[in-house]
Amino acid sequence: SDTLTVSDLAGKLNKGTSEIIKKLMSLGVMANKNQDLDDDTVELLCDEFGVEVEKEIILEDTDFDKYLKEDNPADLVERPAVVTIMGHVDHGKTTLLDAIRHTKVTEGEAGGITQHIGAYQVENDGKKLTFLDTPGHAAFTSMRSRGAQVTDIAVLVVAADDGVMPQTVEAINHAKAADVPIIVAVNKMDKEGANPDRVMQELTEYELVPEDWGGKTIFVNMSAFKLEGIDSLLEMLQLVSEIEELKANPKAAAFGTVIEAQLDKGKGPVATLLLQNGTLHVSDSVVVGNTFGRVRAMVNDEGRRVQAAGPSTPVEITGLNSVPQAGDQFLVFSDEKKARQVGEAREEKHIRENRSESSKVSIDDLFEQI
Ligand code: GDP
Ligand code: MG
Repeated sequence: SDTLTVSDLAGKLNKGTSEIIKKLMSLGVMANKNQDLDDDTVELLCDEFGVEVEKEIILEDTDFDKYLKEDNPADLVERPAVVTIMGHVDHGKTTLLDAIRHTKVTEGEAGGITQHIGAYQVENDGKKLTFLDTPGHAAFTSMRSRGAQVTDIAVLVVAADDGVMPQTVEAINHAKAADVPIIVAVNKMDKEGANPDRVMQELTEYELVPEDWGGKTIFVNMSAFKLEGIDSLLEMLQLVSEIEELKANPKAAAFGTVIEAQLDKGKGPVATLLLQNGTLHVSDSVVVGNTFGRVRAMVNDEGRRVQAAGPSTPVEITGLNSVPQAGDQFLVFSDEKKARQVGEAREEKHIRENRSESSKVSIDDLFEQI
């Protein structure tokens, strides 16, 4: 339950009620046995009795699920797809990400200067797409191990002169495990020895069968190096994105995932967040992974300061108390005090979970010792 009386606590600590009341008196608090104790007092009492497990008793539920509200269907609007580029090393992932970014930066826009914040958005035919700039495998493994799923569509890059390689297969497995649609980008078509038919043939073994062959997988032949096929790829991404009917609620409490984070000498902890639902505002109180804070400043992928960011938008924020990890989830709380409480509880839980097994104490252990 959410409340704890003096006699409840006495029971939990295996002390007499009068012992608790006496201790409270020594702390200047007059109480009877039915008195509700607030978290701070419980913590103080546990401290006084040398009980190390105090937080177990008062820990608020630290799970974000508890605070997430269901969206009203009427509030749902279309949102951009979040795309991850995957594939074998040297098949052209980085070249493709750069090519998309550079061909789509509108002319005259700050001289085409883009900031590296771990993700970026491009506009194609008036519609946006969000690209994760992090290596696809890392994005999938580290994020999924934390229960985060940020990718809507995977682009599988396969070099036409090299074909399916071990990390190609790994990438397919990740995308399949995440139940994410795959578009195949057959890259390096400009190279001598490029053999797109062989790539298609090899991929049929992994149930990626091109539409021309009666399958459902979209293949795009391209050269990231020569900037050929980029528009077709973006068109196909848009198409798949429409089929997926991706929606979010801009009115919801902002929720999403950390794409990357680091400590900046001047700015302190800096984190790139990908909004998955809701709208994040400057000065929002936010719990991020096992830390929390207030959004001091927000910068978008063009390096511009913004006041708000909606679903599928990546933003870099400052104002956190410490550096979260990629894959951590975040949630905004309307109440700063609540954010602090949940943030501190999550931090405490994290510290406890990382303690070595031998030094771990549970409330049960404690009872046995007494
Ligand atoms: P990644 O490891 O998948 O990120 O691969 P990179 O983007 O770093 O590309 C590996 C190498 O392939 C680099 O030398 C690129 O210049 C080259 N490369 C990438 N795309 C193409 C392409 O379409 N054509 C040719 N000829 N070379 C490419
Ligand atoms: Mg690379």
